[in-house]
Amino acid sequence: MKCELCSKRIELTFMNKIIGTLYTKGKKQKAVCNDCQSRYSSREIKEKLNL
Ligand SMILES: [Zn+2]
Repeated sequence: MKCELCSKRIELTFMNKIIGTLYTKGKKQKAVCNDCQSRYSSREIKEKLNL
């Protein structure tokens, strides 16, 4: 899975959760890595993802 904002590969934890956040739009899931999470506010992220 890749970050939608920086295209970086997002790793999974041993619990099989992504290291980052998933945003859901309809049936599509968009992943955002931790770096982008701290770089942008959630409002900015939603604007960039067109949520
Ligand atoms: Zn990212």
